[in-house]
Amino acid sequence: MRAVVKKRQGFGIDILEVEKPSIQPDEVLIRVSFAGICGSDLHIYEWSEGYEWLKFPLIPGHEFSGEVVTTGNQVGSVQVGDRVTVSPHVYCGRCYYCRGGKPNLCREGALRIGFIRPGAFADFVAVPESSVFVLPENCPLDVAALTEPFCVALYALETAGSSLGNSVLIVGPGPIGLILVKTLKYMGISSLLIAGLTDDNHRLMLAQSLGADETIRVDKENLLEVVKNVTQGMGVDTVFEVSGSIEGLTQAMESVKKGGKIFMIGLFQNPTKFFFTPLVRREIMLQGVFNYTSETWRKAISLFTTKKIDLSSLITHKIPLGKIEEGFQLLKQKEAVKVLVIP
Ligand SMILES: [Zn+2]
Ligand SMILES: [Zn+2]
Repeated sequence: MRAVVKKRQGFGIDILEVEKPSIQPDEVLIRVSFAGICGSDLHIYEWSEGYEWLKFPLIPGHEFSGEVVTTGNQVGSVQVGDRVTVSPHVYCGRCYYCRGGKPNLCREGALRIGFIRPGAFADFVAVPESSVFVLPENCPLDVAALTEPFCVALYALETAGSSLGNSVLIVGPGPIGLILVKTLKYMGISSLLIAGLTDDNHRLMLAQSLGADETIRVDKENLLEVVKNVTQGMGVDTVFEVSGSIEGLTQAMESVKKGGKIFMIGLFQNPTKFFFTPLVRREIMLQGVFNYTSETWRKAISLFTTKKIDLSSLITHKIPLGKIEEGFQLLKQKEAVKVLVIP
């Protein structure tokens, strides 16, 4: 089969003929329909810092949908012909966190598809039955490839729960930030602000069309002034920090009201320094949110299927597997939001 292969550390990838994966008794083989390119795939391609733990050769790709073509003899819940999407995080299922409903914090870590196990930038991918979610017939396969980033956003909202408030700022208009816009608007948030840079223009325009009340280019506009105008000088109730940058965290701290909450989703690539005194004095709560649970996946698929949330406008490009490097370029230049690769 054809696959995108990262053979070693350093820049680039190769498109190679490799052996079709064989499956264990508890696994299924999926013919990939669509595989989304994530920011982390771009990092793996360019070999920016933070991925030294990868093992080579690796087939990346962890946001995908497809059709089941073979099942192992212990598989019971999935059948050949099922249209599916797959959670890339395979947890131990036995540890303190897995049993306590927090598998995203699994003590064993996760056997991540597309990072540790071979991923979906290929004609076929083998995955454990436990990570497969069968799609109802009316759930389109292209949109289903967005389930993973959708779950990241949904889980952050679940974590925020009823403490969300009425005014929310999102820092970082990447796919997760834009999915948050769509979902928060569906939930009926009255004041929704999203901050980015001038070169995020494409994405900020999309944010506006998805229902954001204010889009702020922080390198040109005064974020704090906009926040004050919208919130009668109070600051926003909640911030979602999705940029993974010290600038983003600083903007979050300045924009949130006293006693407000900041949820951090973006991953920082490097250790960093930060002045925490304002957090103490203003009683700001800072919480990390990481990945999702199976429950999140079921909820996401149901929101797609009932058409309550339509994320199809986030799919800006569909490209053949052989042209994946063009996809990386589109993302790097921020021309694209979600690029789907078609094997
Ligand atoms: Zn991802
Ligand atoms: Zn576990």
